[in-house]
Amino acid sequence: MEYHKQTQLKHYNSFQTEAFAELFCEPRNIEELRKCLSDYPHKKKLIIGGGCNVFFTKDFDGLVIHTDIKGLREISDEEEEDEDIFIEVKASENWDGLVSYCVDRGFAGLENLSLIPGTVGAAPIQNIGAYGAEVKDVIKEVVSIDMETNDVVSFSNQECEFGYRDSIFKRANRYIIISVIFHLKRTFTYIPKYFDLNKELENIEEPTIQDVREAVIRVRQRKLPDEKVLPNAGSFFKNPYITKEHADKIIEDYPGLPAYLQKDGMVKTSAAFLIDKAGYKGKREKSVGSYPNQPLIIVNYGTPDGNDIVSFMKDIQKAVKHIFNIDLEPEVRIY
Ligand SMILES: Cc1cc2nc3c(=O)[nH]c(=O)nc-3n(C[C@H](O)[C@H](O)[C@H](O)COP(=O)(O)OP(=O)(O)OC[C@H]3O[C@@H](n4cnc5c(N)ncnc54)[C@H](O)[C@@H]3O)c2cc1C
Repeated sequence: MEYHKQTQLKHYNSFQTEAFAELFCEPRNIEELRKCLSDYPHKKKLIIGGGCNVFFTKDFDGLVIHTDIKGLREISDEEEEDEDIFIEVKASENWDGLVSYCVDRGFAGLENLSLIPGTVGAAPIQNIGAYGAEVKDVIKEVVSIDMETNDVVSFSNQECEFGYRDSIFKRANRYIIISVIFHLKRTFTYIPKYFDLNKELENIEEPTIQDVREAVIRVRQRKLPDEKVLPNAGSFFKNPYITKEHADKIIEDYPGLPAYLQKDGMVKTSAAFLIDKAGYKGKREKSVGSYPNQPLIIVNYGTPDGNDIVSFMKDIQKAVKHIFNIDLEPEVRIY
């Protein structure tokens, strides 16, 4: 494994902002990964998968580790009649490749998460979710390397402390995920959870797992920009949680506000709605703008400078705060 100096990161982040990594390496197995940790124990480190949830505003003065650790194994294959199936997947496998593999074999649990760009290893970091599903619902275990000790450390589902776009891995910034063990089912029944998806499937009496994957792909392709054509990192902000009183007050002026009451009494609302009402849907400032079909997505129309994206982000945050008194928190990681 080689260490490269001053590596351009433009093609390692889906926003395609430009920045240099002081040092860059691509470990292809766990031994190489551990070696790079012991070669540079005191250097600042950043792990990069597909780069679909990050962008750069400045050069990275440390070691960027772009893992290339691949492999997949089915753990409980002997007993065909067994309803449960466990699959261990290495971190650098493509996420949608895994979803496709599972759907082809009728292994249920990942289909609603079709077409999310990125790698398997990044999926637990922000507990990826879409169309009423979250990856936490099918994770049995996450295997990692502790960057402080170089030891292999496994986390049970509960130990991952998953939350909405959150996990212990995101908060601790200490563990490199090397594989994820998924717990899937051999039988599939469609449970209507999400309006757009139900609508897409309304003409099919009993949707199969394949029908659901295809419907998710169609809906996503209609709504979301392809990051290879229009650089972006998906939803830029998290959907905010506000008090019921706060939501009721907004609804007096904006009756269409989506408001989902949570078990703890808080209300989850829609960042896209707030951005739209703040006048930012489809708005463009120089080379950065909000995507006309989905205002939650910020698109890079050609700037190499991540600071332009940050500046647009701040304008949106300021407008939403001013009108609704809500702080929008970025979902995307900014380096
Ligand atoms: C068009 C588009 C649509 C999207 N739609 C969705 C969606 O529907 N739902 C959703 O949840 N997300 C969505 N995203 C965001 C993104 O796809 C996910 O966050 C995905 O998991 C990122 O994977 P990645 O490999 O590209 O991670 P990266 O961007 O490379 O990394 C993300 C973070 O995880 C860390 N990381 C990556 N790999 C590892 C590892 N092995 N060990 C430890 N840390 C690691 C990085 O340091 C970084 O902080 C979308 C993005 C785009 C561009």
